[in-house]
Amino acid sequence: MDVFDPAELWSRDQIEHTQLMRLRATVAQARKCEFYRRRLDEAGVTPESIRSLEDVRRIPFTTKQDLRDQYPTGMLCVPPSEIVRMHCSSGTTGSPVAICHTQNDINAWADLVARCFYMVGVRKEDVFQNMSGYGLFTGGLGIHFGAERIGCMTIPAGPGNSRRQIKLAKDFKTTVAHILPSYALILGEHLRGMGEDPREFPLRIAVVGAEPYTEEFRRRIEDLFNMKAYNSYGLSEMNGPGVAFECLQQHGMHVWEDCYIPEIIDPETCEPVPDGEIGELVMTCLCRQGMPILRYRTRDLTRFLPGECPCGRKHRRLDRIVGRSDDMFIIKGVNVYPMQIEQVVMSFPQVGQNYLILLENDGFGDVMRVQVEIRDEYFVEDMRTLQGLQKTIANRLRDEILITPKVELVQSNSLPSSEGKAVRVQDLRVKK
Ligand code: AMP
Ligand code: ZN
Repeated sequence: MDVFDPAELWSRDQIEHTQLMRLRATVAQARKCEFYRRRLDEAGVTPESIRSLEDVRRIPFTTKQDLRDQYPTGMLCVPPSEIVRMHCSSGTTGSPVAICHTQNDINAWADLVARCFYMVGVRKEDVFQNMSGYGLFTGGLGIHFGAERIGCMTIPAGPGNSRRQIKLAKDFKTTVAHILPSYALILGEHLRGMGEDPREFPLRIAVVGAEPYTEEFRRRIEDLFNMKAYNSYGLSEMNGPGVAFECLQQHGMHVWEDCYIPEIIDPETCEPVPDGEIGELVMTCLCRQGMPILRYRTRDLTRFLPGECPCGRKHRRLDRIVGRSDDMFIIKGVNVYPMQIEQVVMSFPQVGQNYLILLENDGFGDVMRVQVEIRDEYFVEDMRTLQGLQKTIANRLRDEILITPKVELVQSNSLPSSEGKAVRVQDLRVKK
C-alpha cells in the first residue's frame, strides 16, 4: 500500500510498544510545568511508574476548565522562546483555551494531516481549496500545512463568499476541498442558483469535518457534487485536524494511535465502557512538547468500531461523533441529540440544506419546533401536499425521539447560516 508514513501500517505490537515509550516521554515532558507536576505527584505518576499501557488510567483527567484556568501559558513545558505558534479552540462560551506549539509540534501535526489526505488519494498534483476560517481556528492553518506537506497547490480561500469560492475553484481547477458540512450544501445550492450543475464542478474529494453530521448528510454532499466526502475529526486541544480520518472504506475514522492514546469512558462513572459502546472520548497526545495534554476529556460522544478495517490498517476506528455531551438537550424528560433530528429530516428528498431546532416554553410546558428548509422545486406544491409532508416528518421524528415536535416548512435560504460551525439548536426556554 502506498502510504505517506510507514507508521500507518504498523502492527498492533508496534503501535502499542511505541505508545508506551511515548507515554513515558510525554509524562516526563508534562512534568516540566507546575500544573502537571503537582497533579501527577498527587497521583504518584512518574515516567518510571508507567509499566504498561494500562497505567494510563492512573493519570488524572485534564478538563477544559483546567485549560481555561491555566490560560494563557500556565501549561507550557518548554521555554516560551521555543513556541512558534498558538491556536485557540472555537468555544463560543467562557474564557478561551490556547494551545502553543513548538516547530517540532507543528511539523509532526502537518505530517499527521498529510497522512490523512494521502490515505484517501490526495497527491501533489491536486489543487486543494481550504474553505474554512483561518485565524485562531485550527481548520485554517492546520489543514493548510497538511495539504502543502503533500505538495498540493493550496488555496487559502477562507470561509463563505460562495461566488469567490466558485471562481477560484474554476480558475484553478480545484480537485480537493476542505469544507464544513453545513457549508457544502449551501455552496451547491449557490451553484445551482447560478444555473450550473454542481456535478460538473472539478471537485473529486471533500474533506468534511469540524462539526457533527450524519451519514444522510454525507450522501447528499457526495451526490450533489459527484465526489467523495471523507469525515475528518480533530480538536484544538489535540492539535486540530489530523487526529482521526476515514480511509477509502468510509466506515469509521482511523485514530492515529502512534501519536495518540484514545479511550472511551462512561462520562458519569469515568470507567472505560465495553468495546463497541458509546461513551466520551478521552485523548492523550504523544507527539507534543510545547504543551502536552494528558487524558483530555473531549466531551465528544462516540465508540470504537469493533473488528478490523478491511483496508488493513490496525489503528482503531472511531465511529461518527454522535454529538457532544454538552449538546444534548432534555425536552419533556427525554434526552435528545441534534443528530437524531438531522438523520430524520435529511432522509427526505424534499428537504433542502438547512434546519433549525427551537426549544420554547409556551406557558404550559416545553415545546420543540423544527424548522426545515424545503427545496424550491417542492415549495410550489399545493398546500395539502406540504401539510402532508409536514405531518410525515413530524411522525418520523416522533418515532425517533418519542415526542412529537411541531414541524414548520420554510423556504430555502430562509434560516440563518453561519460561516463557522453550524448552530443547530436555539434554546429559548426561560431558565428557572
Ligand atoms: P475546536 O475546539 O474548535 O478544534 O473544535 C473541536 C470540536 O469540533 C470537537 O471536539 C468536536 O466536538 C467537533 N468536531 C470536529 N470534527 C468533527 C467531526 N468530524 N464530527 C463531529 N464533530 C467534530
Ligand atoms: Zn481503514
